[in-house]
Amino acid sequence: TLFTKAMTAAVEAESAIEILREECTSLPNGPSIIATGPLTSNLLSEAIQQILGDGGLSFFDAIAPIVHRDGVDENVVFAAGRFDEDSDYLNCPMSEQEYLAFVEALRDGEAHEGHDWDAVPYFEGCLPIEVMASRGVDTLRFGPMKPIGLTDPRTGERPWAVVQLRREDRAGQMWNLVGFQTRLQIGEQSRIFKSIPGLSDAEFLRWGSIHRNSYLNFPGCLSPFGSSRVRTNLVFAGQLTGVEGYTESAASGILAGINLGRSLSGEEPLIPPPTTMLGGLFRYLRNADPSHFQPMNSNWGLVDPLSQRIRSKRERRELLAQRANEDFFVWMERSGLRLDTTEARV
Ligand SMILES: Cc1cc2nc3c(=O)[nH]c(=O)nc-3n(C[C@H](O)[C@H](O)[C@H](O)COP(=O)(O)OP(=O)(O)OC[C@H]3O[C@@H](n4cnc5c(N)ncnc54)[C@H](O)[C@@H]3O)c2cc1C
Repeated sequence: TLFTKAMTAAVEAESAIEILREECTSLPNGPSIIATGPLTSNLLSEAIQQILGDGGLSFFDAIAPIVHRDGVDENVVFAAGRFDEDSDYLNCPMSEQEYLAFVEALRDGEAHEGHDWDAVPYFEGCLPIEVMASRGVDTLRFGPMKPIGLTDPRTGERPWAVVQLRREDRAGQMWNLVGFQTRLQIGEQSRIFKSIPGLSDAEFLRWGSIHRNSYLNFPGCLSPFGSSRVRTNLVFAGQLTGVEGYTESAASGILAGINLGRSLSGEEPLIPPPTTMLGGLFRYLRNADPSHFQPMNSNWGLVDPLSQRIRSKRERRELLAQRANEDFFVWMERSGLRLDTTEARV
């Protein structure tokens, strides 16, 4: 693509960079940034696991969709934990009829075929929701959609089934559809998940997916700026750290370079403020629950909400983007960072 060509051209044009196109099979001893991405080769993966310990590196993601709180219909969903425990959940109640139609839709939904390198072995604990639906009509009702311990305050009764939304961030903007990891195509996810009671107008901040993806448990094993906790001159960057996407990975790499340089000269690392996308993404990486950690791409649920509530999604996003731009440049100036406007050749 144009973006990746431009990135490669920029690196090749930089006289201070020597490019060696070969496999790195162990972690370098000196100051280093490791950004080997979702298909990090085996020997290097082993070396990374050795330094970060068990549970530091995963090889497959299992991502459930996330919705923005603002679009969830408060007249339908109810907040409650099972048996009144832990109320960080919203529950979308389903009648028997709604549940049967939903299971049918999941079974008929079109999933990604995937490539050979992307072949994912499914683990019983995190099967795709559509695979669970195909196993039997009651599988979901006794699995992630079980209604046990939940009473709908509007009816005073236990729903036939529920979709639980778990709060993903401190501000309560991002809500994760628990157990809804999926390989359904995005159009199918939109069609089927918007039929869940209470989610017809929901804004999906992230769609579900299951990939071959080597990624580190950032909140569980890295420092707030992405270095090893036992070796601060070893910094990880890009998709390997649990970000997803071209710009996310490139931005995380640039920040890793800045911060490794600062750390070598005894300065504190820098992270942009959480009103900017990069700052919000790093806050997520730092603060996410290590026991549920899954990769994340840029989305507006990551940044601090505006002080006033704006109903129009378009207007809200424009204001968020404007604020992010302003705050980013203020942060750069305060941090003594300079914008190099030299254009890369494509
Ligand atoms: C089919 C597909 C389509 C995509 N489309 C989009 C899109 O439209 N928009 C978007 O934003 N994102 C998209 N992405 C995601 C995007 O490609 C990644 O998020 C991004 O490229 C990650 O960048 P990275 O530099 O962290 O890793 P990578 O781009 O994977 O780069 C890491 C490099 O390190 C190399 N490497 C691995 N192990 C070693 C080793 N031991 N020694 C030396 N080198 C090693 C790898 O071969 C690779 O070249 C897509 C991904 C795929 C697979």
